[in-house]
Amino acid sequence: MKLFRFGPAGAEKPGLVVDGVGLVSVAAFGEDYGEAFFGSNGLARLARFYAEHPDLCPRVGADARIAPAIARPSKIVAVGLNYRDHALETGGTVPTEPVLFMKATTAICGPYDDLQLPRGSLKTDWEVELGVVIGKTARYVAREQAMDYVAGFVLLNDYSEREFQKERGGQFVKGKSADTFAPIGPFLVTANAIDASDVRLWLKVNGELCQDSRTSSLIFSVPELIAYISGFMTLLPGDLISTGTPAGVGLGRKPPRFLKPNDVVEYGIDGLGEARQTVSASD
Ligand code: ZN
Repeated sequence: MKLFRFGPAGAEKPGLVVDGVGLVSVAAFGEDYGEAFFGSNGLARLARFYAEHPDLCPRVGADARIAPAIARPSKIVAVGLNYRDHALETGGTVPTEPVLFMKATTAICGPYDDLQLPRGSLKTDWEVELGVVIGKTARYVAREQAMDYVAGFVLLNDYSEREFQKERGGQFVKGKSADTFAPIGPFLVTANAIDASDVRLWLKVNGELCQDSRTSSLIFSVPELIAYISGFMTLLPGDLISTGTPAGVGLGRKPPRFLKPNDVVEYGIDGLGEARQTVSASD
């Protein structure tokens, strides 16, 4: 099953991508794709609802804004330096244990919304990543059971302001959390519908291919990450884990290259769709 959301910011509605039909609204189902939905067997209930009531699910107009694929979660837990080539390009070393940081949930936006540079930004950078959406409360989960806790996967971009991240007093969170720094989607693919352990992910800036790798190159796999993170905090249904980015970010180039107004960032993951942002100046 493929879930998406549509409509203006703050008034999003749930939808489904249905093979042979297209984008349909499931607003009549009456639940958004958040903690309560994922935590109450919502995926199975939604599948049943659509099978029984396709007549209540009109097509979504082509002019609708595609919204972030999930409702705002309790947290975004992100993993740093989780591809060997990226760890080395940043001048760091390959970690022996996952590097974790948080990303503000207010950074979430739709997959085609503009990226707005934060005030004072000179070093805004791109990071295509595989996102994992948690399906049920996860606490001290064993690696062998970890995939039972996955609702599905999403495409996302972990936009990062490198000066704020690295030169402004420490802690990644400042550089990761500006508004529009977490486009999610275009859709969520449920865990039973994709094997995300070896899919291609790529990113282009103004048409130039900058990142091109596969999720099989992750240092710490999705089950390892869920086991590891849930040993430090409880993951709630709907929470998002951003699994890390491969080589090819602007910071790793010689000389470094950062985003400026009117740049266009396009990226995708096989099976999880593609997204596109135009960069706009700070307000
Ligand atoms: Zn990242």
